[in-house]
Amino acid sequence: MSKKPPVKKEEVSAAAPAAAESAPAKPQKAEKKREKKHKEEKGVHAMYKVDGDKVTRARPTCERCGPGYFMADHHDRYTCGHCGFTRYKQK
Ligand SMILES: [Zn+2]
Repeated sequence: MSKKPPVKKEEVSAAAPAAAESAPAKPQKAEKKREKKHKEEKGVHAMYKVDGDKVTRARPTCERCGPGYFMADHHDRYTCGHCGFTRYKQK
């Protein structure tokens, strides 16, 4: 009686369910929506408009503080940053 050594069957088992190849790339942070709107330039130079030899003021000056204090131009009003005076735009 000859015993055959049990043949080792190398089971070619289906490859272990390797983790599906998932792209390791993480979804990068969405680009920050920081599109800066080009607002009017700031600074005193923005308060004046030079037209030839004449200079015109692009903003009204504060009635309380007097000339020299420009008022901020909001969509519906002007405000003085110095004293807080607000003047609504007339339609
Ligand atoms: Zn003022």
